[in-house]
Amino acid sequence: MHPHFKPGPLPLSMQLTPEGKLKHFLSTEGLPHLLLHDIMDRAEQFVTLPAKQQKKAPFLRGKTVMNLFFENSTRTRVTFEIAAQRLGADVTNLDIRTSSATKGETLLDTVRNLEAMNADMFVVRHEHAGTAQFIARYCAPHISVLNAGDGRHAHPTQAMLDMFTIRQKKGDFAPLKVAIVGDILHSRVARSQIHALTSLGTGEVRVIAPKTLVPAGLDKMGVNIFNNLDEGLKDLDVVIALRQQRERMDSALLPSEQEFFKLYGLTDKRLEATKPDAIVMHPGPINRGVEIDSRVADGSRSVIMEQVTNGIAVRMAVMSMIMGSMAGGAA
Ligand code: ASP
Repeated sequence: MHPHFKPGPLPLSMQLTPEGKLKHFLSTEGLPHLLLHDIMDRAEQFVTLPAKQQKKAPFLRGKTVMNLFFENSTRTRVTFEIAAQRLGADVTNLDIRTSSATKGETLLDTVRNLEAMNADMFVVRHEHAGTAQFIARYCAPHISVLNAGDGRHAHPTQAMLDMFTIRQKKGDFAPLKVAIVGDILHSRVARSQIHALTSLGTGEVRVIAPKTLVPAGLDKMGVNIFNNLDEGLKDLDVVIALRQQRERMDSALLPSEQEFFKLYGLTDKRLEATKPDAIVMHPGPINRGVEIDSRVADGSRSVIMEQVTNGIAVRMAVMSMIMGSMAGGAA
């Protein structure tokens, strides 16, 4: 990243136009609940349209979307690509491993070169927190940046597809008890979900994790913290499991996988503590037998594959809303 750039607090003015419309999508932090519902309402329209008809809504026709993934991804990259294609965009996936980034080109020089190829939108995943914000700050003003995951900071489209799935299954957020279980400390998904759930007025947001995997200051984010799984699962409507983010982990923090499963793994037996109609979610990739038992992942409570499918509609919603704002219209 730029040697002098320090990712600081993200002012709302960085993501929104003066009229309050999306210009970039970098984080769910501070976004008003009405805007979050707008995203979900628009996703609802896309999700009910067969793929063929979605192609008739070419909000991005003539636009070029560039996927810049500096870190591995399956679901996010592919669903962004499908979403952009369905909206009529030209999509390019820059393979960072074979790009000139490996020859010492700076991130900003890479961005400048892609701008020269008439990019309209960058979808960015990077191991460093703040990278999408950095690109948004220094790229040409007509370009929009979507954060597809930056370090342990944020993953806003994942959080929105999760909110959308919860709304589809449960309706109103106000009466719900929702818990996020596992490695909260290293998870960008957990942070983005907590901001979105609290903005949407969720009845109770819990995290369930060992003390070593709870970040300092989490209590100030309006969540209740449980270190015991059985206590935390009581009466829940929604359980969100997280993978241990080993790539960001100091091994000293880590119990063995078997020990973790014994203490925090979701099994049918332990889920008996939740409401009978509670749903189980996971952003993927799942590690079977570590944070979730196969019977739960593939069982009737699981909505994990629906989350994946919803990722397309939600990403279509965000991209089409951004293009509407950028054109000055109300698309
Ligand atoms: N796919 C999610 C992310 O990129 C969750 C994970 O990797 O565990 O953050």
